[in-house]
Amino acid sequence: MIQVAINGYGTIGKRVADAVRAQPDMEVLGVAKTRPNFEAETAIEKGFALYAAIEEREHLFDEAGLDIAGSVDELVADADIVVDATPSGIGAENKSLYEEYETPALYQGGEDADLVDVSFNARSNFEDATDADHVRVVSCNTTGLSRVIAPLRETYGVEKVRATLVRRGGDPGQTDRGPINDILPNPVTIPSHHGPDVETIFDDLDIDTLGMKVPATQMHMHSLNVTLEEEVDAADVRDLFADESRLFLIPEHMAIDGSGKLKEYALDAGRPRGDVWENAIWEESISTVGRDLYLFQGIHQESDVVPENIDAVRAVLGTADAEESIETTDETLGIGL
Ligand code: NAD
Repeated sequence: MIQVAINGYGTIGKRVADAVRAQPDMEVLGVAKTRPNFEAETAIEKGFALYAAIEEREHLFDEAGLDIAGSVDELVADADIVVDATPSGIGAENKSLYEEYETPALYQGGEDADLVDVSFNARSNFEDATDADHVRVVSCNTTGLSRVIAPLRETYGVEKVRATLVRRGGDPGQTDRGPINDILPNPVTIPSHHGPDVETIFDDLDIDTLGMKVPATQMHMHSLNVTLEEEVDAADVRDLFADESRLFLIPEHMAIDGSGKLKEYALDAGRPRGDVWENAIWEESISTVGRDLYLFQGIHQESDVVPENIDAVRAVLGTADAEESIETTDETLGIGL
């Protein structure tokens, strides 16, 4: 059994912990937290061993009546791999800790690409992560774009990608984020940083992205235009995408008109936390004009990177190939709406 440590138990970390627990070949050695908040309470209730991420704050857990299993150093030392799911920039500060104990580490999309040996997306470059010590699971948006671009490149060739990312202002729990009543070009400079991030997965890709932020918390929405190397029927693209387990084509009859109903559907389907691990592509939006393909897709920022973290564990440790790992992850989590 692969022993996985999770350092940073927030939006991403708690989801990765549950996903690790669902795998037949790995278990959660423990989760490290900085403070005894509601997530620390539920970690204990779920039976995860809780470690103090910052030694000087250990007494706060004692005062809150939460048992601590040890320090983050002990957790990292005993683990086969660490998933660092701390806020942007903290992963970089933690790198020396992982190096000290020679424990390979996965970082998240908030870290810079040059922190790591490899930026990772399971569908696109699984094998590149084998034996790497420091791997970055790319951001929610980059994951969502990569999953669509990989099959298009393999099947038709891609000349150019243009994407406008309408981004949620903050996650539901992020009470300090916004805008509350505005539409922001964000970043206001063009192209946005998202395109270069996708190029960390496909280094010879031509992609320009534009970003906006809107008063929403549920999901991001991508408006995508891909110029292919050949003329293709929209129906063929739909068939191509239908074979991709992490692309969910929303059928017209479901009458899902936006992120709100998508999340409602995920909750009705019994998904934990209403998570939508797949890209949710509006089937009717898939259109072609000559060599240009267009579509709209919803990206659930809190969860699409979760199966990617699971696959990255196997990729780094070399315990499965891409196909086996993706299949196991999909089956155990119930991916494929
Ligand atoms: P979060 O704030 O919800 O969770 C981070 C957790 O780490 C919190 O519980 C925080 O208390 C804890 N923490 C802070 N400092 C720590 C330290 N020194 N050691 C251990 N734990 C510490 O953040 P998140 O949304 O889960 O984001 C984590 C990473 O995932 C970031 O790189 C982010 O860019 C990336 N990411 C986030 C999203 C998203 O939409 N939430 C999507 C994809 C990737």
